[in-house]
Amino acid sequence: PAPGSFVNAANTDFSQAANREKQKSALTTVSGQLGRKWPLIIAGKKIADRDYVASVNPAKPSQIIGHWARATVADADAAVASARAAFPKWRATPVEERAKLLERAADLMESRRLELNALLILEAGKPWIEADGDTSEAIDFCRFYAVEMRRLAKPAVTQAVPGERCVQTWTPRGVGVAIAPWNFPLAILTGLVVAPLVAGNCIIMKPAEQTSVIGATLMDILIEAGLPAGVVNFLPGYGEDIGAHLTGHKDVDFIAFTGSRAVGCAIWEAAGRTKSGQANLKKVVCEMGGKNALIIDNDADLDEAIPAALYSAFGFSGQKCSALSRLIVLDEVYDAFVERFLSACPAIPVGNPALPGTVVGPVIDPDAQQKILGLIEQGRKEAQLAFQGTAPAEGFFVPPTVFTHVKPSHTIAREEIFGPVVAILRAKDLDEAFALVNGTDYALTGGLFSRSPRALERAQQELLVGNLYLNRAITGAIVERHPFGGFKMSGGGTKAGGKEYLQNFLFPRVIVENV
Ligand code: GLU
Repeated sequence: PAPGSFVNAANTDFSQAANREKQKSALTTVSGQLGRKWPLIIAGKKIADRDYVASVNPAKPSQIIGHWARATVADADAAVASARAAFPKWRATPVEERAKLLERAADLMESRRLELNALLILEAGKPWIEADGDTSEAIDFCRFYAVEMRRLAKPAVTQAVPGERCVQTWTPRGVGVAIAPWNFPLAILTGLVVAPLVAGNCIIMKPAEQTSVIGATLMDILIEAGLPAGVVNFLPGYGEDIGAHLTGHKDVDFIAFTGSRAVGCAIWEAAGRTKSGQANLKKVVCEMGGKNALIIDNDADLDEAIPAALYSAFGFSGQKCSALSRLIVLDEVYDAFVERFLSACPAIPVGNPALPGTVVGPVIDPDAQQKILGLIEQGRKEAQLAFQGTAPAEGFFVPPTVFTHVKPSHTIAREEIFGPVVAILRAKDLDEAFALVNGTDYALTGGLFSRSPRALERAQQELLVGNLYLNRAITGAIVERHPFGGFKMSGGGTKAGGKEYLQNFLFPRVIVENV
């Protein structure tokens, strides 16, 4: 690679027995170290005398991963004040130093990869390859945003004219809150923190409640990488306790959020209310859910389409905002596809993600489990249950489930499920299939399997989603290659891991000098 260019981290090859052994032994080591108390970290100081909340393994709820300190509203104020105080110095810190901090964090993550994977397996219930992909993506975000910030830091001439030097530069926005989801507990949290960080902002990092031990581990890594006090403040807590207070705070300049539609919309709205004494209009970087569809055209290559559909729907139990939720199958191929798809379903390995072959592990917590099971009940009333797998009794499991005879008006065809459930709809032609894909509130991922150049061309024009995948799975976006994010009720149109992403955390400035 050219100097200064970006290279994606390589995933671990678990087909190699030696790598499997190493991951197993990391799981044993990490399992023996669980149960620590993780304090808040504000202005570089650990604040330990708070109530603690236990984080548990969703596959084995009796296993406590750790206890995290529950931040209060006063802690939120202290974290904002600390970030404010640290901002002038961090803003003035050379970009090269800020970029190096991210690269050191990436190196530390790489050297602790198997340990991080183990934590992801234990705290989030991620199957091995998903955990390993999560770690790779976190590393990629650090390295990619470091490279991007170096690029942006070079003043760009706006127009070359005699007598004037006109350049555009970028300056950080100030203080931001990063609010992350539990489904990519390392990667998305890292991305939401390190992008604004390398851009020169100071951050309040609020990990998801369910995966705060991973959040605390990221904080440790950033500190070890050389993070100055106050530049990132670690504030685990309940959204109900501190979320609205933080996002509405007059001294918060931006919010970087990935999570549910309800919370995202509430943040978007709150950010629009300008308080007295507020310095900046608030910027919101907001990624929410999806109701993602994959079309199977009559001439689709089913040998490719079936594994891609299975993985997109059931990988990590469907708990990705990119996950496949609606399979739209064209009339002529419908019977052949559905028969083959359903006959492949029983082979999906469901079980404890600590075992290497598992594809469907638990869902994150009892609330998620109840919500998904409720939607499955609703589906039974509306449509036809065509397949349901089995799942272990211990842990928050939901069996992989497939419905056929689903109509666009059915709840399971409209609401985001965020679980291992797929609804199959039948379409008489591509026109109808395209209308179905676009006929939701969301616009995140989507795809088409077809051998027809005309159909593929039409899909590019007509399928209105943020990430459109042709003849492949619809999850698993890779940093730089597949900038990720959607629009409509899926988000504000920003692209994580994309070239313009850092600009969300910066103000452009133009400098004109008479020469
Ligand atoms: N970027 C992930 C993917 O492409 C999904 C992220 C999410 O679930 O928020 O699968």
